Amino acid sequence: MEASSWIGRAESHILHTYNRHQIVWDHGEGVYLYDTEGKKYLDFAAGIAVMALGYGDQEYEDALKGQISKIIHTSNLYYNQPMIDAAEKICAVSGLDRVFFTNSGTEAIEGAVKAAKKYAYTKDGTTDHEIIAMGNSFHGRSLGALAVTGNAHYREPFEPLPGIVRFAEYNNLESVKRLINGKTCAIILETVQGEGGIYPATEEFLEGVYGICKERDILLILDEIQCGMGRTGHMFAWQAYGVKPDIMACAKALGCGVPVGAFVMAGKVAEASLKPGDHGTTYGGNPLAGAAVSKVLDIFKERRILSHVREVSGYLAEQLEGIKDAYGFVKERRGIGLMQGLELDAAVPVGEVSAKALEQGLVLITAGKNVLRFVPPLIIGKEHVDEMAGKLKGVLGQY
Ligand SMILES: *Cc1c(COP(=O)(O)O)cnc(C)c1O
Repeated sequence: MEASSWIGRAESHILHTYNRHQIVWDHGEGVYLYDTEGKKYLDFAAGIAVMALGYGDQEYEDALKGQISKIIHTSNLYYNQPMIDAAEKICAVSGLDRVFFTNSGTEAIEGAVKAAKKYAYTKDGTTDHEIIAMGNSFHGRSLGALAVTGNAHYREPFEPLPGIVRFAEYNNLESVKRLINGKTCAIILETVQGEGGIYPATEEFLEGVYGICKERDILLILDEIQCGMGRTGHMFAWQAYGVKPDIMACAKALGCGVPVGAFVMAGKVAEASLKPGDHGTTYGGNPLAGAAVSKVLDIFKERRILSHVREVSGYLAEQLEGIKDAYGFVKERRGIGLMQGLELDAAVPVGEVSAKALEQGLVLITAGKNVLRFVPPLIIGKEHVDEMAGKLKGVLGQY
């Protein structure tokens, strides 16, 4: 069946909440994707920073198939082995103590915010606590996650949103200090802002926020949904700073394609926050998701994915710097590891650039208003960086 006929059927039955590119994906292999017409594309988007191991990894697939044959769902009224293995491995790589598995990043944020509120409630018995979040942030689309998302366009139609949330300016420590009062229970931020346009936290900012949190027993919630799981060359982006979150939210690459998220907390939060009856999920941490997380973490370790990311990302940064120098309308390169952005002059629309890249067989996504976002599978090699740079120059040369 032709792509246009699939697209016609999609638009007749699927709620139109995305302006999708006119492509129907068929399958993937390594770091390449194929559409239903047989055209091959180099993938520098990874399904929005999800497919860290690329497509068709044999070991990963075998683990999932094996689990499917045994059992894929049990509910949380009982224990299951893959969930236990996965939780233990997440604690080992994060140095945090307790995991709650969710089905998405949004739910991981919801849970993290609930845990912070319950922690504050346990301490003083009141419920009017405040949360400080950042402008230009993205934490998800549910009402709770939207309440801490600093983007007026996403929020406005759904206001009033739950909770008392105050917005500071990202990377501006003074703006955070100004909002702190006796009611502040948590500060939430992305270690590297993703959707907002690839802005890494400065050391001064993140370590400053961490210091304030420590001093005043305010919980630091780090959203590692996009920047975590090895993308920056550290298992979690915060591990490159002198900080440690009280609660961390993960998702995206955590299951490398199986829908799974988690919020992970320090022991002191676990002891004084969510208790039986306070939170739950039917699917969360089911054996299929657990098997995926567990195998992904094994593969990261066995194949030394983090050192690979550090090596290849230096080369990517060099190539992107070269592109920046060659085209006057490329204003800045930002990012850490394999989470990079090129900010373009407003005169060159990034949406159009990403559409033209697709024509050249390159999958590239955008972020913020005018940023090209590079979040490839973590297994890319230098040859793929060269191929990407060649195709991208072919597109940028048209401007
Ligand atoms: C994608 C994303 C989310 C939301 O995750 P979903 O799985 O889409 O619900 C939250 N925070 C950040 C930083 C993200 O990149």
